[in-house]
Amino acid sequence: MPITSAPPLSVHEAQTKILERIRPLDSERVPLRDAAGRVAAGPVTSGLDLPPWDNSAMDGYAVRAAEVAPGSELPVALDLPAGTASGQRLPDAAAARIMTGAPIPDGADAVVPVEDTTGPAGEGRFAEIGEKVRFDVRPQPGTHVRRRGEDVGRGAIVLEPGDVVRPARIALLATVGRAEVLVFRRPRVAIVSTGDELVDIDQAGAPDRIVNGNAHGLAAQIAAAGGLPHPLPIAPDDPAAIRRAIGGALEHDAVVTIGGVSVGPRDHVRDALRDAGVELVFWRAAIRPGGPVAFGVTAAGRPVFGLPGNPVSAHVTFELFGRPALRRMAGHARCFRRPLRGRLAEAVSTRPEKAYYLRVRVEPDRDGWRASPVGAQGSAILTGLAAADGLAIVPLGVGDLPAGAEVDILPLEGWAPEVEAP
Ligand code: AMP
Ligand code: MG
Repeated sequence: MPITSAPPLSVHEAQTKILERIRPLDSERVPLRDAAGRVAAGPVTSGLDLPPWDNSAMDGYAVRAAEVAPGSELPVALDLPAGTASGQRLPDAAAARIMTGAPIPDGADAVVPVEDTTGPAGEGRFAEIGEKVRFDVRPQPGTHVRRRGEDVGRGAIVLEPGDVVRPARIALLATVGRAEVLVFRRPRVAIVSTGDELVDIDQAGAPDRIVNGNAHGLAAQIAAAGGLPHPLPIAPDDPAAIRRAIGGALEHDAVVTIGGVSVGPRDHVRDALRDAGVELVFWRAAIRPGGPVAFGVTAAGRPVFGLPGNPVSAHVTFELFGRPALRRMAGHARCFRRPLRGRLAEAVSTRPEKAYYLRVRVEPDRDGWRASPVGAQGSAILTGLAAADGLAIVPLGVGDLPAGAEVDILPLEGWAPEVEAP
């Protein structure tokens, strides 16, 4: 059966067919400031011990634990702020003022926090060099001492291949002296917009024309998914022009076309893809919005997504099909948002032969989340999409649902559940 007359796929089938054809891209070495959110392509080992020397975990006094007991006194012989050179020696029967992070002097084996001492200026107040400090506690050897290498030993692996470079990992890499990291390349994604009616944003308001809003929204979605968007000039609804545009797009790591992928007489994208040697893997998914959506693979193995032109359809189909693919190309193992479980705030009317992705506002509820449909649900209604922070899913075969029905809710665009009060 030719693919164009195959029955529409379920979202799950379509996502599976896509990910089967996607591999992570090659890797590149980037400075830490460009590494946030990227995925490590190889292990990184520590260049240093962390901490680099035994040091104090508190502001207080470095002592020999055996010389200290409640009520005992010692003279203060040294003052060791952070940044002091290591290798100083604590004289017998003396204490050293020491600040957090300063090297433990040779001979000392414990730190007593200043709060557990009394100096000439009073309880919890530091004594000066030459003055005496009285202790309220009996420290154990090792108390409040951070050991050299206790966090990371030199040569230990601090980042595994596949790890996402999160801010805390950037802090760790920097601290162990790694200024660069090998990560998977971000996919460069061409955006091919098609339509005689489209103009660029600087022509907004031109008679009989609409702005190519999708290219802007899609560029933001691509960037949010970890890709590098490359919008190409608008192609008119002319087979040769679309063929040329797609030909020029194929040098990118991935291609997203917008519009012209349905069954109208001026929908030339599928023919142009075929002419460009793109293997069409599927066309049409049993979803609303966004049924006429195509996925193909170039001879070089690069993915091509043919999104429908209606703005809501383009947005939703990119979320469902394009985003996971770009994440996989960027090296992520976890490519899908996990739906939240919630209840519909009002009844919805849908047809069972499609899965519906309803634009909803998501709010915390007593036992999960509440999904309130926002705006008209037509596939050209941008305000509803703009107001939504999630998509409530009415699965294939279900149809109408009453208020209170339990549904899965897909959070949109990095939106994660937040509440107003702790
Ligand atoms: P199509 O998928 O080409 O049949 O387009 C369906 C609807 O989406 C039409 O109303 C188009 O004008 C509109 N449309 C197509 N492409 C875009 C775009 N890039 N930006 C905004 N609207 C578009
Ligand atoms: Mg069109």
